[in-house]
Amino acid sequence: MPKNKYNINQAIILFSLAMLLSTIGLESRNLASLSLFWPSNAILLGLLIRFPALDKPSTLLILFLGMFTADILYGTPVVIAMGLDAANILFIATGRWVLLSNHFTRGHSRRLQALLHVFPASLLGAAVCALAGAIVSEHYFEDELFQAWFSWFSEQMSTSILLLPLVISLPRRDELAQLASALRESTVLPILALVLTTITGIWVGGGGSLIYPLPALLWCAISYPLFITCFLTLITGISEIILVAGNVLNIQGKDDLFRIDSLSSARLGVAAMLISPLIVALSTASNKKLVARITKRADYDFLTGALTRSGLASKLESLVTPRHRPKGFFGAVFVIDIDRFKNINDTYGHASGDYVLAKTVECIRQGLQQSALVCRMGGEEFLVIIEGISQPRAFLLANRLRHSIEENVIMLDGNNLSVTASIGISALNINNVNSLDESITRADEQLYIAKSSGRNQVRPEFVL
Ligand code: GH3
Ligand code: MG
Ligand code: MG
Repeated sequence: MPKNKYNINQAIILFSLAMLLSTIGLESRNLASLSLFWPSNAILLGLLIRFPALDKPSTLLILFLGMFTADILYGTPVVIAMGLDAANILFIATGRWVLLSNHFTRGHSRRLQALLHVFPASLLGAAVCALAGAIVSEHYFEDELFQAWFSWFSEQMSTSILLLPLVISLPRRDELAQLASALRESTVLPILALVLTTITGIWVGGGGSLIYPLPALLWCAISYPLFITCFLTLITGISEIILVAGNVLNIQGKDDLFRIDSLSSARLGVAAMLISPLIVALSTASNKKLVARITKRADYDFLTGALTRSGLASKLESLVTPRHRPKGFFGAVFVIDIDRFKNINDTYGHASGDYVLAKTVECIRQGLQQSALVCRMGGEEFLVIIEGISQPRAFLLANRLRHSIEENVIMLDGNNLSVTASIGISALNINNVNSLDESITRADEQLYIAKSSGRNQVRPEFVL
């Protein structure tokens, strides 16, 4: 029942949205002919990609009905409305097919795959939709076929390239915090450059002036998150088209006899130009993702999830800097080594040994506060760094850890297994990361004493 209700809600939303967006387009309708700005196709197509739950076979019919209703309410004759809205649906169907085609780009997420296909999807969608639309307008408005096709095509192509990326890259709720922090860290200079180059274009005029904002847009693309770049691209593109349509940005000189051609040409020019920042933004975004993935691989041990030594060094780097800790970084270092671990490998096999390592680190983590650093030094030896802890407390905590490792029952091949560990402790008081090694060496010496005194015990370097 709730599922049906949800579907009906979705259908109502889609229907109303199609009606609303079509009405916006109809408001810009030029005399008895076609609309100057028809945003509904690109926005609705983008929404189907961005919200996969909306993307069902029945959706196209609902969208058609929404657009058709808007047309009828606007006074468009039924047959013409049917023809024009069928052309609109053709755009959405063709665009969807190209956006999600995994012919060249297998293995990407749905959104990334669609963003990579924005240009061919807009091109093909606009061409097919314009053909259907031009046939209708030739038949009913007695427009010249090619002129009608070109006008419709250029409008759909540019509108789609402007709007599709923005709608597809609409941030999810869990991406908002990341977007806000990326914005806080970025500078306003690329936007200033964008405004300045656009103004220069208006001032200088001529065909080339459309492209003046391109370098600034590329700067935005490498400086801001993808969604912001898409937004700035949209604003720039729309401004330029409006400026050309209003003759503020004069790209054709004084003999402006073919207004619509000059506008169509500007639209196509803007569309062709604006695909570049999108591609740069996409490549910057995937580079950032790749760097984050590689950093994660380098900083965290794959088997146990503990920090690697290089991961520990970079974590400590930020913690130990005098700016954050003017009085130095102090606390305790534990070196934990599992006792007779080789026996586990020999008895149960290496894979089971791996499992025991992962389970033991999980147990160590559970016994510590979030702020403690756990690092795999190698093999079955781990380093724990706890900031701000006194020596007696460090000793108590290490003993508690030793107990919980011993009591942590691990199921292996139907056997209940438990391991023990020996722990050496040293005090930590450092001003730079390099001094950590001395503390580790001292904790290692204590570990050696713990091992030679019978294992499963804690040895601090200090006297309690
Ligand atoms: P001790 O109580 O003296 O520490 O004895 P031990 O057997 O734990 O120590 P030893 O250094 O003799 O052996 C450590 C073993 O840990 C040897 C090595 O094969 C195994 N080992 C190291 N890295 C891994 C790993 O990633 N996975 C598994 N399964 N075993 C590992
Ligand atoms: Mg060992
Ligand atoms: Mg060892």
